[in-house]
Amino acid sequence: MAKDPVCGMMVDEKTAKFKSQYRGKTYYFCAQACKVTFDKNPTRYTGGQ
Ligand SMILES: [Zn+2]
Repeated sequence: MAKDPVCGMMVDEKTAKFKSQYRGKTYYFCAQACKVTFDKNPTRYTGGQ
């Protein structure tokens, strides 16, 4: 399981429909809205680098 960095929900990587690559890491999301939010401002959800 992976954690949706936007809302904190646990997401199963095997069935996740929404994902983004950022700085070589893959992030999984529960919904498209979370992915869109992440894509707008990924640094906010990845430790601020
Ligand atoms: Zn979410």
